[in-house]
Amino acid sequence: MKKCLIIGGGAAGLMCAAKLAKSELPDLQITIIEQKDNIGYKLLASGNGRCNLTNILPCREFCEYGFAKSQARFVRNAIYDFSPAEQLNFFAEHGVEASLVDGFHYFPKSQKSVDILNIFREIISKNNIQILYNQQLKSIITENNLIKSVVLDNQVLECDFLIISCGGESYPLTGSNGKIFPILQQLGISLIDRVPALVGLQTANEAITALAGNVLLNASVYIASEPKLIDRGELLFTRTGVSGPAILDLSGRVNRVLHEGADKLEIVINLNCDYDRDFWHKFFADKRKNFGKKSVRNLLHEFFFLNLVDWLLAENNINFERKISELTKKEELNLVESLTNLKLEIIGNDGFKKAIATAGGVDLNEVDSKTLAAKKFNNLFFAGEVLDIDGRCGGYNLTWAFASGAKVATEIRKLCK
Ligand SMILES: Cc1cc2nc3c(=O)[nH]c(=O)nc-3n(C[C@H](O)[C@H](O)[C@H](O)COP(=O)(O)OP(=O)(O)OC[C@H]3O[C@@H](n4cnc5c(N)ncnc54)[C@H](O)[C@@H]3O)c2cc1C
Repeated sequence: MKKCLIIGGGAAGLMCAAKLAKSELPDLQITIIEQKDNIGYKLLASGNGRCNLTNILPCREFCEYGFAKSQARFVRNAIYDFSPAEQLNFFAEHGVEASLVDGFHYFPKSQKSVDILNIFREIISKNNIQILYNQQLKSIITENNLIKSVVLDNQVLECDFLIISCGGESYPLTGSNGKIFPILQQLGISLIDRVPALVGLQTANEAITALAGNVLLNASVYIASEPKLIDRGELLFTRTGVSGPAILDLSGRVNRVLHEGADKLEIVINLNCDYDRDFWHKFFADKRKNFGKKSVRNLLHEFFFLNLVDWLLAENNINFERKISELTKKEELNLVESLTNLKLEIIGNDGFKKAIATAGGVDLNEVDSKTLAAKKFNNLFFAGEVLDIDGRCGGYNLTWAFASGAKVATEIRKLCK
């Protein structure tokens, strides 16, 4: 009997166990080791308890749009082998249909992530997969280039295959607390420093925090020093800075730059990315000609919430009563610059506690992307967020977790035959 140990009962580990169970290898004993008192805490929390499983993009676009370039190359094999469409079929075959919510994102029809977790619970119980709860992996014992056994809280278990699917460091209360990383480092596996990703950003500009709670529906944002990486979408003002989809997708990169030594950096925001400088200058020219008595404040209020308009006027030293006919050319230039190129200094982020993902983790150079096996140890595999993979918002991270778990199962199946 061969022994397969899966460390971590999150999306990646559970899919790996399920796929292995489905392959009905008579001589394989599967055990999940989970340090929490239950499996799938993060899966349950995902998508606000609704679980954005994946989206409509076909594999190629899914990888290219969802991940940074080097990550896209790495995730390709696993995603093509267990595509977003195949994943939805898998859930449907197990009784959970998905629905397309806004023409792009798939959620379970019930809008309940627990339905996805229940699929795994059922597969686990029907296939006699063992789960050891409240057991933390403490260290890994090797011989030459093989993993021999693992040390848990109060026992040592031998293994033929070891899968590390311990997640990253975000939302540590769900179990992914990062304690796995020093253990991997001891094995000689190189790591990329972890920073929070998909997380709100903090600014030193206290005035802007007065806008907390308000949303821009159609903003675009980029890092001042990296103008090619533009994100678009909703931007939410918070008590510490900015958040919302447009910011979250950029946050991993921002935090990486800050982590590498910058004590602050500037992001540049277009408050409505449908409107560029030309639009606003034409707009002001037209209003000046036809509605000269209207106040700048009221005109801008047609586009933005009043707090923001007042803040913009104050920043540019423009009196709230100023009529459009009285706006000087210099004031107009400054205002248009604020509307289309608002610069905001970022000094930090809301931390791992609130981050949806972790950027960094096991260095992708340590792992064969075709098998997800470690290059240094023949029987060691990685799946999910523990690797240096962080996708955008929109179902990319769960899809990766499921695809990588399935990929590892495929490889172990091959080795067992
Ligand atoms: C609030 C929130 C909402 C999200 N929403 C979405 C969404 O809607 N769509 C989407 O695609 N992605 C979403 N994500 C991201 C997605 O949930 C994760 O990327 C994914 O669940 C990662 O799966 P994983 O199996 O790699 O890790 P995890 O789910 O973190 O599982 C790791 C498991 O390993 C266990 N573990 C860790 N260390 C040890 C150890 N030493 N010994 C034993 N066990 C250990 C942990 O307890 C945990 O159960 C969300 C994340 C968060 C935090």
